Amino acid sequence: MGTRKKVHTFVRVKPTDDFAHEMIKYGDDNKSIDIHLKKDTRRGVVNNQQTDWSFKLDGVLHNASQDLVYETVAKDVVAQALDGYNGTIMCYGQTGAGKTYTMTGTTENYKHRGILPRALQQVFRMIEERPTHAITVRVSYLEIYNESLFDLLSTLPYVGPSVTPMTIVENPQGVFIKGLSVHLTSQEEDAFSLLFEGETNRIIASHTMNKNSSRSHCIFTIYVEAHSRTLSDEKYITSKINLVDLAGSERLGKSGSEGRVLKEATYINKSLSFLEQAIIALGDQKREHIPFRQCKLTHALKDSLGGNCNMVLLTNIYGEAAQLEETLSSLRFASRMKLVTTEPAINEKYDAERMVKNLEKELALLKQELAIHDSLANRTLVNYDPMDEIQIAEINSQVRRYLEGTLDEIDIINLRQIQEVFNQFRVVLSQQEQEVESALRRKYTLIDKNDFAAISAVQKAGLVDVDGHLVGEPDGQGFGLGVTPFSAKPGKKSKSKKTFKEQLRPSTPPPKPVAFEDFKNERGSEINRIFKDNKSILNERRKRASETTQRINAIKREMDVTKEALNFQKSLREKQGEYENKGLMIIDEEEFLLILKLKDLKKQYRTEYQDLRDLRAEIQYCQHLVDQCRHRLLTEFDIWYNESFFIPEDLQVALKPGGSIRPGMVPVSRIMSLGEDAQDKFSQLQQVVLPEGPDSVAFYNAKVKTEQKHNYLKTMMGLQQAHRK
Ligand code: ADP
Ligand code: MG
Repeated sequence: MGTRKKVHTFVRVKPTDDFAHEMIKYGDDNKSIDIHLKKDTRRGVVNNQQTDWSFKLDGVLHNASQDLVYETVAKDVVAQALDGYNGTIMCYGQTGAGKTYTMTGTTENYKHRGILPRALQQVFRMIEERPTHAITVRVSYLEIYNESLFDLLSTLPYVGPSVTPMTIVENPQGVFIKGLSVHLTSQEEDAFSLLFEGETNRIIASHTMNKNSSRSHCIFTIYVEAHSRTLSDEKYITSKINLVDLAGSERLGKSGSEGRVLKEATYINKSLSFLEQAIIALGDQKREHIPFRQCKLTHALKDSLGGNCNMVLLTNIYGEAAQLEETLSSLRFASRMKLVTTEPAINEKYDAERMVKNLEKELALLKQELAIHDSLANRTLVNYDPMDEIQIAEINSQVRRYLEGTLDEIDIINLRQIQEVFNQFRVVLSQQEQEVESALRRKYTLIDKNDFAAISAVQKAGLVDVDGHLVGEPDGQGFGLGVTPFSAKPGKKSKSKKTFKEQLRPSTPPPKPVAFEDFKNERGSEINRIFKDNKSILNERRKRASETTQRINAIKREMDVTKEALNFQKSLREKQGEYENKGLMIIDEEEFLLILKLKDLKKQYRTEYQDLRDLRAEIQYCQHLVDQCRHRLLTEFDIWYNESFFIPEDLQVALKPGGSIRPGMVPVSRIMSLGEDAQDKFSQLQQVVLPEGPDSVAFYNAKVKTEQKHNYLKTMMGLQQAHRK
């Protein structure tokens, strides 16, 4: 497994008395063939000026017997099929060049029998040599004519689903043709009868349906399935050998043919061209999509072409000068196929029934083993079966007693019981959690600590519990998300500059904006620093996200342009005629480079898009942090401001640590928003408006005083309420 192989290509030259010695020359190693054309002999070919071609292949079969052809071309493929490798042998070439002779041979003369009967013989011979395996052989014979499927063995008795018309179906096991009869054959002779039946049907059909048998593709398939006779071996292998007699490759369309002939020619040209495309795509490891479904031939052979199977292409050619043009075209096809690599792999499967049986056996054995161990250890009758409800209830009660302290130990019996004990611990624990929570709910109103809106609503409403504590009060620990709680970092107080609070209490409280600046330098310095840090991270991420978005858009634009260019190339190619392009690969370099470019762009696009998604997640997270910090900063400021300037001295005592009221209880209402925008406005105000327009100062002061008065009254009312409770 895992080694790459080339498609094996052979050429068989049909014997003739009129061999073109001057034009066709074989290499000494019998692996190359040189073609020489005299200038102007045949205009159609010479018009591109080239007169000499050299083709390197895996073998040139000249005057070769059917026997030698089989040995060279098919023997290894068939042998490997019995080891689980799919194999496909195809004959390609113009009508009359000897494809059917090579594949089927003459049915009258045993000596001249072709690859099909010989392959069947080899399979049965090999089965005889492998008594360790139970090997079944099945056979089907499919004909594809003008994109319709025909079962060449439909005349034989067959028990199986008959579906008309037949359809090609894909499932995880591979591709199969629904409605095609597959016949089990237990011996060589049966297999031959099937083959002859198929051949006869092929000829009859060509008469009755008025179709030329050389205009259809025929696929004879041998299915092998090998199970080890050792029952403990759960693996088994399956494989298929496809022997394909392709339709004549000559191009008919040119000479003004019409009607049926033209239709046939179109179908054949298309399917052979698709066959080539599919095989080339398979050989390209970078290709993700293989165009199998373009025609019935490639679709039916999907799991038997290139890819993971052994592939042989035999090109049948004429040796006469008159056929040189078609010969050249056939050889070009062969040399393109030769470049394709495949990676043959064994089709290994698991026999589920055997696996279950083996596991059951193993289980029984282990139970016996355990029983012996128990009796040796003087343990009587331990049950290892799954527990029933009563046993589980008993364990649950043990666990409860153990937790209450009425049971000292839980005896260990076996693994299953230990696992159940743990399981019941979990059950009991979760029941207790629920009980505790519902007990709390009966007595208290619970609020989520992270839900600031709810908390502030409760604070505003002055909701306090019986003990004088605010329910769900934020205590610094509820404030998380990677930010150091503000209250955990006690005052890094500036030593030189005294703050408002440290000075004697002023008779009129300072304006809030001024106080806010002071607060940020003093008690709020830490939270303010974190707030700023988070904001700058957020801004940086936002910038990056916008840059990434721009890059993604640029890539997208380039992808669109490339796609358009590619489509243009494709349409150009289709117009010029795909398959008829002499000696050229189906896909030219320009198109190939565009495909590569598009692939590369797609990759870039995916990477950038992933980055953007990550950034968006980070932005959302940072935004959340910034919001929380802002909220915290303002809440703390309000508390601080009220404490410093509004709360009477006696209440201050109560607010001190250890006092009956904690700062969080003070019902604060936000007088104005001091988010970063407002904050900026204030600094602006201080710098610009205040010095320049004294009128605005008065206006501003008046507004602040009114609000402060209002706030004072509300605060006092709240505090009185809190005291009364
Ligand atoms: P294809 O299937 O390619 O159209 P056939 O296999 O039907 O061509 O061959 C056409 C004729 O040539 C047949 O009568 C066949 O017996 C004969 N023929 C082809 N190849 C050979 C060969 N190698 N030796 C002897 N006869 C051949
Ligand atoms: Mg034929």
